[in-house]
Amino acid sequence: MNEPRYSSYIAGQWVEGGGSHVDENPANLDAPVGHYGVLDAAAVGQAVDAAAAALPAWSLAAPQLRAEVLDFVGSEILARKEELGRLLAREEGKTLAESIGEAARAGQIFKFFAGEALRIPGEKLASTRPGVDVEVTREPVGVVGIIAPWNFPLAIPAWKIAPALAFGNTVVFKPAEIVPGCAWALAEILSRAGLPEGVFNMVLGSGRTVGQALVAHPKLDALTFTGSVPTGRALLEQAAGRALKVQMEMGGKNPLVVLADADLDQAVECAVNGAFFSTGQRCTASSRLIVEAAVYDRFVVKMQARMAQLRVGDPLDPQVHIGPVASQAQLDTDLGYIRAGHEDGAELLAGGGRVDCPTRGHFLAPTLFAARASDRISREEIFGPVAALLRAADYEHALALANDTEFGLCAGICTTSLRHATHFKRHAQAGMVMVNLPTAGVDPHVPFGGRKASSYGPREQGRYAVEFYTTVKTAYTSA
Ligand code: NAD
Repeated sequence: MNEPRYSSYIAGQWVEGGGSHVDENPANLDAPVGHYGVLDAAAVGQAVDAAAAALPAWSLAAPQLRAEVLDFVGSEILARKEELGRLLAREEGKTLAESIGEAARAGQIFKFFAGEALRIPGEKLASTRPGVDVEVTREPVGVVGIIAPWNFPLAIPAWKIAPALAFGNTVVFKPAEIVPGCAWALAEILSRAGLPEGVFNMVLGSGRTVGQALVAHPKLDALTFTGSVPTGRALLEQAAGRALKVQMEMGGKNPLVVLADADLDQAVECAVNGAFFSTGQRCTASSRLIVEAAVYDRFVVKMQARMAQLRVGDPLDPQVHIGPVASQAQLDTDLGYIRAGHEDGAELLAGGGRVDCPTRGHFLAPTLFAARASDRISREEIFGPVAALLRAADYEHALALANDTEFGLCAGICTTSLRHATHFKRHAQAGMVMVNLPTAGVDPHVPFGGRKASSYGPREQGRYAVEFYTTVKTAYTSA
């Protein structure tokens, strides 16, 4: 076995972990990306202890040092974005162009928070009492546990690790099981960035063992989680039991409304990009396409024509638009929902099955069903390249359908009507709204997050990240 072996990083040391688990290449199951060892609960305990021991000094470290560390990490990621993107494409399966874009974004996020480390906000106010000053300052929240999903294995860890370190916290980062290579690559860069030992730790292993040991550790002060609703809800209950500060970003079932007055070609591009790019494995994917009756038939014809042009295959091939599904488990879920679509009486308009490619991989055709709002494929998050198309009588009906979901991450509308765009921005029950843009694809310097079952706690990213990663102190001084 010549592939790399990925290890964990605890208190400034690489820790092998037990066993030799395969880091799969979902586009070629016969050519694994590498192998990795997993930790037990005791090793995770050591990582949290190391982060706790490093906290007093790091929480008071010069902001300039924190800025320099994060700037170093950002610069190196940007300089190596092609190489890191290639690793990401091989490990997670999104196309090379998408993967390089994600690596670049991770680098930009570290750069952004390098600046934020020097801009920690505070306030000085007059007291209600004469001769007294009031200061409101922000301090680190403490030891932060980071639990991340597999679908953005560089960008999501970046948008959690960078603000945590910028604001003086120490970190234990637990990546998803199927992306140890990207986690190792990030940790390797951070290990050379000038951080004191124990400030950043990375622990490989399952959610059940490593994730649980992290969440249950008494020295953990805060938990930021991105992943599925069932896992998030279970962790939320655990966290509430011990008054842990939490931030949760979970699933989505994001609507894209297409009105009769939309530029239909633009709407089709938004729908194809939002529903199928990155193999539909984005929490912001447009998995419900809600189209006004007057243009519904024309929209279907255009979608079918556009989808026929999409090439599924090796993510490293520049001619390929859609890479493989990331894992066998996710493929089984996707195929299960395609069966559910048929069982519920939805009409298959495109795709619907696996795609044969020269290598053995998890290739699935982008799939579109004409469905009813009550069908399982219209209500439950699939997290694959499978979208439900719903017919709406008019704008009001489309808005009602868009909001008829337990989720509330992102909502989009394609229209040339200022009145409808403005109304939709105001009334869509989502944390993010897109007008004439795909629901997926957000900027890194502004808040990211949702409402309803999609999110819990303060927003991530941009200047709003300070809310979660700091705690506020109010000090009164009499001269
Ligand atoms: P998941 O919930 O299965 O796992 C997420 C992480 O939690 C992994 O690291 C996993 O190992 C860990 N975990 C699992 N069980 C655990 C436990 N009992 N204790 C502690 N940790 C545990 O999700 P996934 O399949 O990795 O990712 C897909 C999901 O992530 C989708 O639902 C998607 O919508 C969501 N997601 C949301 C956002 C967002 O910002 N809203 C972004 C990306 C992905």
